[in-house]
Amino acid sequence: MMMATIFLYLTLVLHFSRSLGDEIPIGGIFTPGTSEMKTAFIYFLHMQDMPRQSRMKVKSIPEEVDSDDPFKVARELCIQMSKGIFTLMAPTKESIYDTFASYTNTFHMPFVSPAFPQLSAERPCHYGVSMRPNYLRAIIDVIKHYQWKHIIYLYDSDDGLLKLQYIFRLTTESYQLDIRVVKSIANASDANDFLRSIETEDRQSTKRVVLDCSAAMAKAIIYNHVHDIHMGRRNYHYLLTSLVMDEFFNTDQPEFGAINITGFRMLKSLSSEYQEILKKWESLDPEYWPGAGENYISSDVALMYDGVKVVLDTYNRLLKQKHDLFRNNFRRGQIYNNGTKGILCDNRPINPWEHGEKIAAELKKTEILGLTGNISFSEDGFRKNFTIDIVEMNVDSKMVKIAEFSDSRGLVFDTTVNGENLKNGFENKTYIVTSILEEPYLMYSKPEPGEHLEGNDIFEGYCKDLADLIAEKLKINYVLKLVNDSNYGGQDPNSPAGWNGMVGELIRWEADMSIAPLTITSARERVIDFTKPYMSLGISIMIKKPMKKKPGVFSFLNPLSKKIWMCIILAYLGVSFVLFLVSRFSPVEWRFEEAFLGPSVSNDFSLMNSLWFSLGAFMQQGCDVCPRSVSGRIVGSVWWFFTLIIISSYTANLAAFLTVERMVTPINSADDLSKQTEVEYGTLRFSSTQEFFKRSKIAVYARMWEFMNSRKHVFTSSYDEGIKRVRESKGKYAFLLESTTNDYINERQPCDTMKVGRNLDAKGFGVATPLGSGLRDKLNLAVLSLKENGDLARLKNKWWYDRSECSSDSGKDSSQNELTLSNVAGCFYILIGGLVWAMVVALLDFCYKARVEASRAKMSMMEAMKVKARSSITGMHQNERGRVRTGSI
Ligand code: ASP
Repeated sequence: MMMATIFLYLTLVLHFSRSLGDEIPIGGIFTPGTSEMKTAFIYFLHMQDMPRQSRMKVKSIPEEVDSDDPFKVARELCIQMSKGIFTLMAPTKESIYDTFASYTNTFHMPFVSPAFPQLSAERPCHYGVSMRPNYLRAIIDVIKHYQWKHIIYLYDSDDGLLKLQYIFRLTTESYQLDIRVVKSIANASDANDFLRSIETEDRQSTKRVVLDCSAAMAKAIIYNHVHDIHMGRRNYHYLLTSLVMDEFFNTDQPEFGAINITGFRMLKSLSSEYQEILKKWESLDPEYWPGAGENYISSDVALMYDGVKVVLDTYNRLLKQKHDLFRNNFRRGQIYNNGTKGILCDNRPINPWEHGEKIAAELKKTEILGLTGNISFSEDGFRKNFTIDIVEMNVDSKMVKIAEFSDSRGLVFDTTVNGENLKNGFENKTYIVTSILEEPYLMYSKPEPGEHLEGNDIFEGYCKDLADLIAEKLKINYVLKLVNDSNYGGQDPNSPAGWNGMVGELIRWEADMSIAPLTITSARERVIDFTKPYMSLGISIMIKKPMKKKPGVFSFLNPLSKKIWMCIILAYLGVSFVLFLVSRFSPVEWRFEEAFLGPSVSNDFSLMNSLWFSLGAFMQQGCDVCPRSVSGRIVGSVWWFFTLIIISSYTANLAAFLTVERMVTPINSADDLSKQTEVEYGTLRFSSTQEFFKRSKIAVYARMWEFMNSRKHVFTSSYDEGIKRVRESKGKYAFLLESTTNDYINERQPCDTMKVGRNLDAKGFGVATPLGSGLRDKLNLAVLSLKENGDLARLKNKWWYDRSECSSDSGKDSSQNELTLSNVAGCFYILIGGLVWAMVVALLDFCYKARVEASRAKMSMMEAMKVKARSSITGMHQNERGRVRTGSI
């Protein structure tokens, strides 16, 4: 009994000693450039603490081959197999994939590869599994999602070419895709040189680059691109087909956001396993562990980790099943195959690995979770039930997940990330909005004392408010930037892409949209997209307000022209003379008087009396002489009629002339401008207004263009410059600008400008986006709804009419209708003049009479004057005989 117990114990000890201390080898073959994966292979197998069930250990026997030469790889394979290995792990580039496939197929060697190349579809590896999911379909779906019609395809390996074939085949079936350029690249600078040459040829178009190369190379290409000042930014969209986004995820490359990058990401970085492995990987010293010590886990490392996990899981499952393998084939850390040590290549007949089939089948039954999510395999060794994230790099260089691809559901966009709905793909992103400083559209805001403004708040104005409303509607963020060259946008051969200003920036994708007073024109519409207009306007003329004419003291003469006044004087003299004449010839006018000295004849209508009569009638007065002859009365009647009409017309005109201080505008329309050369006129350079005149076929505008084009100095580089020129040129410069700005400026101090004439055309301002921008439709809807709900009208009131600085002035203008002294001063002057003249005449009369009296009374002139003066003052007249007569004063 005792003996039996000892025997059993010894048997057990022997049995366990055979397997307990055993380390079962896992082969690994690495070619140049895969040191990172080799490190992962050794390190993760070495950790071995993943599945803890096993008491038997595995060990790695990594071998490095110094080249991709299939013969050397085959020899290494045979060496490893001859040592006896449980399974084989090796990264398989396409150059050596065939070797692996044929050896592992022949010797039934289970095989785990981080990634099978594309050609594995045609030459399958029956005993192998590939850790990288096949997401070619996702690449095509993303291209279709963006609705790319043309792409540039750059690849660095034959595998890339095979992928292209596949893409081509799939797209031609249902989707028209023009693969414009296909180019194989040897290294990053090769790709950058090529892209630069494309850019020099055609700066204008958008370029969609599908980059099929290693993650490291893709990273280098993008890095070079963003640091190359000759390259466009936003007009580039890269689709990175390798899983490079896993590496970009944690790297800090703020400038990468300048170009559009879309790519694929496989790592589930939120899992605790990821965090744990990342910590370990980061802590490794890269001197001993080449490729490790980074602050991210590359997809290659992750696939290797998951591969190791799959191998260990399979191993443990077999162990649990107490598979024969562990009983019969392991001896002292060696694998025996059908009784011979190791799996030998040169055995004839071929002696394949007796448990290979079983192990391979068990590999494919894996159902675990790894860094790359759910790991399970289809019959042909490819991943199934996997998911891959489609991510975009936003302008803040942050990665944004836009969709998820799974082999079962394809591309799904309605995922929620961080609780936010990404259905539209653009929500919550930050966009660059380009604009221009122009009152009242966009101005620097004036902070209150002690207030500190930052971000978009340093600006204010109509466009700032509009941008806020749009951002709120679209649920996006925006960064407002001023256009670099302060231009709206005109064709300019010296600018990249042939356009300058905001239009150029949009073409080059340097901005995502422009919210500015940018006019919609056909030339611009060809190179960028516009929304429906948010404001309507037309080209108008701005001139300096003419000085108001001060009314002259004789302005009461104005109602009738000088000619009429002359005619009236002539008529007056003529009428008086005719009256005198007809009265002389008419006997009725002669009067016989019985006087003291005997009878005498007299005629009332002496020349003086005729003049007096006509004057009295003209002044609407009367006089005590009246014609009695028929002819005299005819003359009188026509003269009265004439004066009635003339005086009524004068009175009617007088009011208007005296109260309205007339403004004489030298220019009233474009036609006036075109017909003269004294007043110069011009437009803003590189503007839609300039373009309008350049292209116009209407004779007047074409003539104006000729005038302007021959005097280049009339063009201004900003509205401010033009307005200043109008104000300072004393009416010798007229500025052609858009009516909205014209209206605004006319309401600003010093209120010395005005709009004249009708608008020359009718057009509108629109929000602009680069051609093909996904935002366009949403912006369009936003603008229309803001228009419909009255927000835009409110903004117009806020920035135009409520800010008017000239309103009080114009009010004064209209209320001013009473006469001022200056209007009627002339009448006073005439009155005073008449009085003075009358006194002078009286004096002369007095002197003359005194002289006559002196000579008659033989006294001195002085004495006669004294006598006369006395009698004039006292009213007592002395006759020759000394008698006194009292006269009335
Ligand atoms: N808003 C204009 C433009 O877009 C400026 C102008 O034409 O006067 O160019």
